[in-house]
Amino acid sequence: MKKYIMALDEGTTSTRSILFDLDGNVLASAQKEFRQIYPKPGWVEHDPTEIYASQLATMTEAIAISGVNIEDIACIGITNQRETTVVWDKDTGKPVYNAIVWQCRRTSDYCEELKSEGMTDYIRKTTGLVIDAYFSATKVKWILDNVEGAREMADRGQLLFGTIDTWLTWKMTKGKVHVTDRTNASRTMLYDINKLDWDETLLKKFNIPRSMLPDVRSSGELYGYVDVLGYSIPISGIAGDQQAALFGHKCFNTGEGKNTYGTGCFLLMNTGSVPCDGKKGMLATIAASDKNSAVNYAAEGSVFVGGAVIQWLRDELGVLREANDSEYFAEKAKDSGGVYVVPAFAGLGAPYWDMYARGVIVGMTRGSGRNQIIRASLEAIAYQSNDVIKAMELETKSNIKVLKADGGASSNKFLMQFQSDISNVDVIVPSCKEATALGAAYLAGLGCGLFSSRDEIPNSGSDDKFSPQMSEFDRERLLKGWRKAIDCASGWVDR
Ligand code: ADP
Repeated sequence: MKKYIMALDEGTTSTRSILFDLDGNVLASAQKEFRQIYPKPGWVEHDPTEIYASQLATMTEAIAISGVNIEDIACIGITNQRETTVVWDKDTGKPVYNAIVWQCRRTSDYCEELKSEGMTDYIRKTTGLVIDAYFSATKVKWILDNVEGAREMADRGQLLFGTIDTWLTWKMTKGKVHVTDRTNASRTMLYDINKLDWDETLLKKFNIPRSMLPDVRSSGELYGYVDVLGYSIPISGIAGDQQAALFGHKCFNTGEGKNTYGTGCFLLMNTGSVPCDGKKGMLATIAASDKNSAVNYAAEGSVFVGGAVIQWLRDELGVLREANDSEYFAEKAKDSGGVYVVPAFAGLGAPYWDMYARGVIVGMTRGSGRNQIIRASLEAIAYQSNDVIKAMELETKSNIKVLKADGGASSNKFLMQFQSDISNVDVIVPSCKEATALGAAYLAGLGCGLFSSRDEIPNSGSDDKFSPQMSEFDRERLLKGWRKAIDCASGWVDR
């Protein structure tokens, strides 16, 4: 009986490989950063070859550290930064251009054009997305339009496109397998999330030949085999990072949601068999499911500045030495004394969508001090997440029953309790902090038959649970102040 699962977690700044046992315990992990390439302001690229090399290096390193026998590794699951776009020559395997990263804004103007041409509704209905340079479609078009010879090669069927999952799988299977999963496909702005197929109208609009596109599969099934130090291991799980985390938290049912408290916050909620309609600013995306389970959708909303506000307190204001200390000082303050911090450094995301908003600190008196500003900053992470939760509930006409949490700032107990209080929901922080990698591992386990169904996936051990303790009166009073603070931040920049 094979005993281990390897998760490959290909992030935006580093690749990691994590070896799990079948109970979801981490045996070993290895991590390697790779170069961030900024050719112009607002442009972000990666070298796909470096990503592949760093993934192989961390995989063998994790195996070596763990001391397990390679033949005991049952399967590999891949989770990845979504939307980032690679185009390569199918014969030589060479990328024709660097990977264009999700953050890259080079196609913003073209996206504005698409909006003015009236494409918004069609794209929303078909792909579940708002028109934005984040998504892969305009990046592929940019490569075909701007790299010498690329358009002609694409027309000849010589080029392949993939997000990072596709690129890694193709490389690791020596060019035999050109696939992606539905979660990644649903972030390309080319995929019809209702019909579960690439959309002809959008392919024509962006002038992208269908021959470039990978086959779209479920997130847990056998895709192909990788040779690792002489042993053949199946790749049997693929999911984009946020959907992998939703799966890793076992949010398999409608109304179950998770929030990843990292630099920004990413909230996803399982909406079952129906995608949300975006009326309250949520994106509709496909949730991860293995080949034996029905397709589920998720509503997605994000907060631009989450844990980053704590970095700002540390690096810009200099009132903290470490992010961890924020909990101690916040507790010391007892309450925020009417102080609100709105970290709208780059505008406000869902549900406000105000790019003219800017950060404010309001409600200060002569007695307001550092501890209250620190506390109010942590509270701001929870208030912003709460705004997304409430919009999500309105949009999906259902209540979030439990919120699962992960990401760096989820280790802050004050923040987790405040989130529970202000949103009036139970917040659960699993002991295993690797929800994303765990999701990829579970999917791979299902995909290769190691788990025969989701019921066999182990529980993650001892979780921290935070339950609401705040009175309705206090909650309303605090939220009223937050809404006033948002008004102060809104529309600050002159248009
Ligand atoms: P990412 O994956 O986006 O790089 P992480 O999940 O590693 O982010 O989380 C890092 C973020 O969490 C940073 O913005 C940091 O300021 C914040 N953070 C880390 N620890 C804490 C803490 N104990 N309290 C509040 N914020 C924290």
